[in-house]
Amino acid sequence: MTSPDTAPELPARTVRCPACGGPSLYAADNPHRPFCGQRCKSMDFGAWASEQFAVPEALSNQDPNFERS
Ligand SMILES: [Zn+2]
Repeated sequence: MTSPDTAPELPARTVRCPACGGPSLYAADNPHRPFCGQRCKSMDFGAWASEQFAVPEALSNQDPNFERS
């Protein structure tokens, strides 16, 4: 007799989506993992990209007078 408790395949894990905080299916079925979907994946990447662009802008915001003296 086979016990129904022993499943050969593990069920898909559900993790928290880093973008929206909602439940996200962490499985091979979800190509956007750990995000819950395409929208959240692109949204998080957009925020990450804008942060990267903010770095050189902050560096160029130095006072030019400080360098001359
Ligand atoms: Zn999400």
